[in-house]
Amino acid sequence: NHCIDVVSRQKKLNAIIRLTPEIARSKSKESSERFRNGEVIKKLDGVPIAIKDNFCVKGEPTSCASRMLENFCPTYDATVYARLMAHGAVLIGKTNLDEFAMGSGTVDSIFGHTRNCYNENGGYISGGSSGGSAVAVASGSCFAGIGSDTGGSVRNPASYCGVVGFKPTYGLVSRHGLIPLVNSMDTPSILTRTIDDCVTVLNAIAGPDNKDSTTINRPFVDISVPNGDEISLKNVKVGIPREYHCEGLSKESLETWMKIADLLEENGAQVVDVSLPNTASSIFVYTILNQCEVASNMARYDGIEFGHRSHDEDSSTEQLYARTRQEGFNSVVKNRILSGNYYLLRRNYQTYFEKALKVRRLISNDFQNVFFRNERVSVLLTPTTLTDAPKLEEFVKRNNRDQCALQDFCTQPANMAGVPAISIPIKLSSNGLPLSVQLMGPSLSEQSLLTVAKWIE
Ligand code: GLN
Repeated sequence: NHCIDVVSRQKKLNAIIRLTPEIARSKSKESSERFRNGEVIKKLDGVPIAIKDNFCVKGEPTSCASRMLENFCPTYDATVYARLMAHGAVLIGKTNLDEFAMGSGTVDSIFGHTRNCYNENGGYISGGSSGGSAVAVASGSCFAGIGSDTGGSVRNPASYCGVVGFKPTYGLVSRHGLIPLVNSMDTPSILTRTIDDCVTVLNAIAGPDNKDSTTINRPFVDISVPNGDEISLKNVKVGIPREYHCEGLSKESLETWMKIADLLEENGAQVVDVSLPNTASSIFVYTILNQCEVASNMARYDGIEFGHRSHDEDSSTEQLYARTRQEGFNSVVKNRILSGNYYLLRRNYQTYFEKALKVRRLISNDFQNVFFRNERVSVLLTPTTLTDAPKLEEFVKRNNRDQCALQDFCTQPANMAGVPAISIPIKLSSNGLPLSVQLMGPSLSEQSLLTVAKWIE
């Protein structure tokens, strides 16, 4: 009830687009009964959480913030949601996002944009596309938020809103019931206030799932991170990739990044410069692969089986498809569908799609090289975003592609390589907005990555 009150008081943040009071009441009742009867307490008993509105919850509208799915109620639960509920969590609501998770601002939603809760009157964006979940956590409406991270959509809003944002290794958490953006990169991810909370949620949702054939097929062993003062940095080797000193990186973000590098070094870690030479290609490669997968994924929204259907009665089937899609999608989604189909034309396939896959491999090899061949670092330390949160007016002036090129420079490479990455809030900028750093580690290095993250926190 307290959380639902908080949400109601903070309507103008527009983080939660739909409360789920019935689920919340019945789940909290179950938890209280367990407490009262002295039964074993579950990992997340009574813990209020909010979930991005692109995860299916049976019988609840799941809109992807798009007119196309405005009235869509799934007939099954996403695995992430089912596991959270099985561990006693209490769903308080579904959170805002950019339409179909395409964006870096939570500004392109049929529900309107989500506001940053820092410097509230300054008109700053929350970041995106999981901005709703980030603000829900930052504003105290819930303990954990679930988002999806395909190119940075959890780490970016975490960085702008001053919360922890963790994207696990690709395949560690099931995508079943997450409405797809880019199947080969989508990763259900976690937003919390602390690393300990993040670990608790990860332990509840990770592990193989026979409903998602891309989950890593080995049992997940719970992670446990020691207390901050018990963590030793003696055997930690931290890489500082020089390519992340990029154009557009603000003075304050650079200072924050360097300050954390110095602190790690002063406290016993070995800090070295490394190179990930293909970093700058990430944005181009991501753009092509994203649009190709989008073109294919969006083909299912034709107005026939589910979702929005145009009401024009005289039209032919072709016209029905066209009108439905015209009415149902925003211009960002339409542009991506068109570009993706262009890249996939028989005459373009090799030039764009195949080449992008090859460069994706080079980006991924860069990570393999620094982790296992050359410097053998245990983690990479970079900024999460190039600046603190932009103002809404400035952000919407750029077109969606430019926004992503700027906002996602530091986050997209990890999705391309499938490696785990976490954004950790550090301090406030001169605008009173959060500044963060990012740590990335080798696939399945969650235990050591989260341990270093905890030390930094
Ligand atoms: N900004 C990127 C995009 O629009 C990433 C989105 C995401 O991670 N869901 O594709």
